[in-house]
Amino acid sequence: MERFDTVDGFRSAMDGVRSRTQVVGLVPTLGALHEGHRSLIRRAAQDCDAVAVTVFVNPLQFAPDEDFEAYPRELERDAASAASSGATHLFAPSQQEMYPAPVLTEVRVPALAGLLEGAARPEHFGGVATVVTKLFAIAGPCRAYFGEKDFQQLAIVRRVAADLSLPVEVVACPTVRELDGLAMSSRNVYLEGDEREAAVVLHRALQAGAAAIVAGERDGESVCSLMASIIEAEPRAKLDYVTVADPGSLSPLDRLEPGQAVRLLGAAQVGRPRLLDNLGVVVPG
Ligand code: AMP
Repeated sequence: MERFDTVDGFRSAMDGVRSRTQVVGLVPTLGALHEGHRSLIRRAAQDCDAVAVTVFVNPLQFAPDEDFEAYPRELERDAASAASSGATHLFAPSQQEMYPAPVLTEVRVPALAGLLEGAARPEHFGGVATVVTKLFAIAGPCRAYFGEKDFQQLAIVRRVAADLSLPVEVVACPTVRELDGLAMSSRNVYLEGDEREAAVVLHRALQAGAAAIVAGERDGESVCSLMASIIEAEPRAKLDYVTVADPGSLSPLDRLEPGQAVRLLGAAQVGRPRLLDNLGVVVPG
């Protein structure tokens, strides 16, 4: 695996791959790689000739009171983990390299970025969309692999690529979970003591919502009430939101129609971390 810390070096390596008519797979990350990230890298390695993993803790997507400074940084471990999962290139630029001057240009998708996660973190998705667009511009034409774990982020990245006609095919990959169902996340390391056990309540609530739909529930509000009540019954969890939404617009759905694909999404605070999760269901009938 070749390592790059400059924009020009990484860009010319990606140009080199394409000049051999090979396909680039791109896996953007904040680092602290876990099995969820590794599943994206392995999938990209199956589909593509070269797999470029980017590791960059992007300050634009953290609010001043968030964990930018504390975010786990483990570049040597990440490099070994990426290489053993099939990465051929690692791009790990410094902040100075990515943002040599104050950023005056932003990419925003207000219709998708203001709700759900965006209601709690108003600047977050602008920062994500801006850095992802920049990484796409640096990497050039590629397939880019994103996890369904961050479903709203995936929806936003898809819209950015489509709306700006970027030469990138966005590929969605399923959420990787711990044995009890907790979605893997770099921030799970913040869970202390019995918080780890409590954290699975979010997944359990979403599963109960999905089961209710499969059993015939057609009222979105009732599904939300059921999911909320499960999270509220766990004293160590603080519910932020649950929703039954359209997978593209992320708008809440009142009536669920037979054959409709819907997404159940939720967020809750357990101890220090805010946990996110989601599940897809097709309404039977
Ligand atoms: P992050 O480093 O948290 O920005 O995540 C980088 C990429 O890995 C994003 O596309 C995430 O959606 C994806 N990812 C994170 N956790 C998981 C997981 N548990 N399963 C699948 N993909 C994940």
